Amino acid sequence: MATTLEEPTAERKAELSESLTEIRVRVEAAASLSSTTPTLVAVSKYKPASDILACHELGQLDFGENYVQELEDKARILPSDIRWHFIGTLQSNKAKTLASIPNLYSVQTLGSIKAANALNKALSSDRSSRLRVQLQVNTSGEDSKSGFPPLSTSEGIESSELAQLAAHVVKECPRLRLEGLMTIGSLELSIHASEAEKNADFESLKETRDILKGYLETTLGDNLRSSWGEEGSGRLLLNMGMSSDFETALKAGSDIVRVGTGIFGQRAPKAT
Ligand SMILES: *Cc1c(COP(=O)(O)O)cnc(C)c1O
Repeated sequence: MATTLEEPTAERKAELSESLTEIRVRVEAAASLSSTTPTLVAVSKYKPASDILACHELGQLDFGENYVQELEDKARILPSDIRWHFIGTLQSNKAKTLASIPNLYSVQTLGSIKAANALNKALSSDRSSRLRVQLQVNTSGEDSKSGFPPLSTSEGIESSELAQLAAHVVKECPRLRLEGLMTIGSLELSIHASEAEKNADFESLKETRDILKGYLETTLGDNLRSSWGEEGSGRLLLNMGMSSDFETALKAGSDIVRVGTGIFGQRAPKAT
């Protein structure tokens, strides 16, 4: 089924304007307590292209999608200045399709050397910048979530898959840039937990980031420092926080939050 682009109705536009504005205000308020200027990624999975268009008209440029096919279909018909973030499970056999989307901005869920190589190989040499990639960390340790185990010590770090993949991206994948780390956190906790419990995931991601950064600096050296982090600053970004916990995440220093339900409302279960 081809995705077609319909104009959002006036009613839906008003609804999205209200929810997006509210989320923006809350992001700004929470971020004002830390020193970051965070990126709000609007997670539009299962939502019609017209919803994305309505948010785009309100100046929203960053959108996140979980499925390669859905992202490709939407990217084809929506404005080309949209920055698409892939946030789903990445299978290396889908890397080529993903890499062919010209305005793909980041892949937040890189999980293997195989997928990194497939992406790096498939990316066109005439892209204007390297594709940002983030490595997914399973801070809550739940079996249902993908991602690498978090790091709590730099001892033995060279044998951790997370550190190996990070170093591989920096050294061997010239079309990728290691931008930061992403976590989903504990979904169960995020609804009922206290701030302190929610913070455990976020603190774990921060600790992992700090340890990884130290490792990259010592093993890869200063000459490579500009090839990772935000715009080559060497600062690895923290991507954490969703609809139910983005304020806690921002207070903990998150650079990127991914908000779906809070902007678009509940998602219908995927039709099969
Ligand atoms: C769906 C999804 C989100 C958005 O979740 P909400 O709770 O609707 O804000 C964020 N991140 C990932 C990885 C997702 O799959």
